[in-house]
Amino acid sequence: MKTEILKPIRENIRRAGKLIRAGELVAFPTETVYGLGADGLNAMACRKIFAAKGRPSDNPLILHFSHLSKVEQAAKILPAAEKLFAAFCPGPLTIILPKTKFVPDDVTGGLSTVGVRFPDNDVARAFIKAADCPIAAPSANLSGRPSPTTPQAVYNDLRGKIEIILDGGACQFGVESTIVDVTCEVPEILRPGAITKEMLEEILGEVKVAPTITDKPRAPGMKYTHYAPKVPLTLIESSDDKIFRREIKNLRAENKIVGVMSSQELISKLDEEKIIPVTYGRRSDLKSIAANLYESLRNFDDLPAQIILAEGVEDFGLGVAIMNRLRKAATFILRD
Ligand code: AMP
Ligand code: MG
Repeated sequence: MKTEILKPIRENIRRAGKLIRAGELVAFPTETVYGLGADGLNAMACRKIFAAKGRPSDNPLILHFSHLSKVEQAAKILPAAEKLFAAFCPGPLTIILPKTKFVPDDVTGGLSTVGVRFPDNDVARAFIKAADCPIAAPSANLSGRPSPTTPQAVYNDLRGKIEIILDGGACQFGVESTIVDVTCEVPEILRPGAITKEMLEEILGEVKVAPTITDKPRAPGMKYTHYAPKVPLTLIESSDDKIFRREIKNLRAENKIVGVMSSQELISKLDEEKIIPVTYGRRSDLKSIAANLYESLRNFDDLPAQIILAEGVEDFGLGVAIMNRLRKAATFILRD
């Protein structure tokens, strides 16, 4: 199958909608990352998503909507969800709600709940309207790889497996949506994102954070298979250039070609070192670091680095989402 990257003009949006109604897959931009979409009420179509990504079938998909009136068919709208819709939708937030019988088990991995989201992206909204059904979509990467934030990144992972990628340019936020479960007594954040705990608490009152997010993996040496670049990554939870120099020296003594992914501030302090530098932005600008994070990781696919040393950021606000992804991408974690 030939994979085309198409400009989001009306004719192409219509073609994408038709493909969805025919039970096929389409990759599309959102404000967070690119999604790999299928008709969310068509079990056979949704199964194609798992096959194309190599995704385990028990990892549920999120349903994407363009309009609130369409949600009722798929999910029971709880009062907390109504408040969140009013405050943050469209936007980078997924709300977990009880599902209806119309949502196939293939979408939810057999769960009785479903994730609901309204992307804040004109191309995504036009595409969902053209398809005229909820769009089930995970991120449009091969399972285990960094999520794609450009059409080219989708192409690199899914070339030959899907017919079209709608081109919406680079994604605004760059990390996946915040996921909040409102089916429990106290709402719980299952994945951190651009809508922070503090923002949710303003609307809902008390909000918990799932232990899977806060449980810091025992360092060093825990292995992950998420968001991973093609070579091992050591996350250094510090901006101290002395620690980086020490690690670079040790690795160079083993004849390793060392890549460093970090802030501009740190890279400029390491300019004497023999490294392959990739900067993810300025330390003070977490928004740009989030937006550049996955592309920075993917940059190393085409560079000769044999190991990546990555600088951590402060674990607060949007930094929580960035650190969550970096820890999952890491093979080793070093702390001060
Ligand atoms: P992705 O869009 O690739 O980031 O994947 C969607 C993610 O949403 C899954 O990996 C789950 O963590 C989460 N998710 C989707 N539906 C549910 C649900 N019903 N309950 C809990 N988590 C969910
Ligand atoms: Mg994903």
